Amino acid sequence: MEIRFLGGAGEVGRSGILLKDSKTILLDYGIKVDGHTEYPEKAGRVDACIVSHAHLDHSGFSPSLYHEGFPLTVATEPTMKLAELLIEDSMKIHRKKHEHEHFHKAQLHTMMNRYLPLPYSQTTEFDRYDISLHNAGHICGSAVSLIEKKASGRRLVYTGDFKMEPQLLEKGAEVVKSNILILESTYANKDHPDREGLIQRMVDEIWETVDNGGTALLPAFAVGRSQELLAILQRSGLIKRTFIDGMARAATDIVAGYPDYVSDRSLLENAIRNSVWVDSRRKKMEAVDGGNVIVTTSGMLNGGPVLDYITRLNRESRIFITGFQVEGTNGNKMIQGRPIDIDGRDYRVRTPFSVYDLSAHAGKKDIHEYVKRSCPETVVCVHGSEENTSILAQDLRAEGFDAYAPRVGDSISVEF
Ligand SMILES: [Zn+2]
Ligand SMILES: [Zn+2]
Repeated sequence: MEIRFLGGAGEVGRSGILLKDSKTILLDYGIKVDGHTEYPEKAGRVDACIVSHAHLDHSGFSPSLYHEGFPLTVATEPTMKLAELLIEDSMKIHRKKHEHEHFHKAQLHTMMNRYLPLPYSQTTEFDRYDISLHNAGHICGSAVSLIEKKASGRRLVYTGDFKMEPQLLEKGAEVVKSNILILESTYANKDHPDREGLIQRMVDEIWETVDNGGTALLPAFAVGRSQELLAILQRSGLIKRTFIDGMARAATDIVAGYPDYVSDRSLLENAIRNSVWVDSRRKKMEAVDGGNVIVTTSGMLNGGPVLDYITRLNRESRIFITGFQVEGTNGNKMIQGRPIDIDGRDYRVRTPFSVYDLSAHAGKKDIHEYVKRSCPETVVCVHGSEENTSILAQDLRAEGFDAYAPRVGDSISVEF
């Protein structure tokens, strides 16, 4: 089998891994969204596409496949419902920025009507292969994909984005045995700080802010981080002062519709019940009046209601950054003390901010742990910087694995 890397190799974003055997199967087809949009290389006509999870760097370009043909798209149901929300939003942003549109609503609708929803641990037969999805512990519906060739019994596993350590609403990733393992490497070179300690420090600082009459503003990605923050706020008693706005609301609504995919469903249900959903101008003003917590999109301050809130915060307020801030985004500019861009104008944020690394990705130790327990012969390191993927592949070769760190456009052949 030939594996070709269309994107997301030696970089994070625009994931696309093409498997060419007797059938052509694509693993993820996403976009890269930092400032302007970048796309993976052309996939051509594919027979099937497995979408590991909803984030746009994995799902955002998948509707374009329906220009070329009618591939079978396989994913969990929450993945596709959340992807639809994010893709529709990204199409709106493209139109607003007058960027070229590579697909239209028609292709997205075709995909949503034709995809195969596959729950965790169930198997579907596709030509000479069995395909199954397993919990990846990253966000709601995220999956580790297993493709098993029936004749040889050889197993190819693609982790997608995964996390071993449980989060409040996510169980840890399931380790799947493999012969060939395609592995995300985002944090291949770094271990995360102790999560519970970090959450406790953040909660204390949020309490201090609201008790002093300030607003605690929590910019968050709509899918994943927003729900996890709501769960943290529920657990810490801050939820009754919490307002939720922007796409975070719609995404939370979708996640709540799939309780089987949430590890602590009553925690999420209570968080939704006890928080205020901002659906009017009056509630917006109430939210920012001081003494409250606001969870809102966008997570990197690149649009959404968060920018409106930022300009209205009182002097006692504080901004809490909990997600990775890609270079070139407003969030990254703010952290570096540079002015951010609001509707084409420079705006200097005077509100103090704190950064908490609440990552939904496996750290270095857990990445190595996954490889060890999955027992592959061949490991392919993707979804990480050139440096991180190279170092990981080198380390794994030293441990006796046949390991690669490909770049975009590379192909490797493996026995399957
Ligand atoms: Zn992700
Ligand atoms: Zn990703």
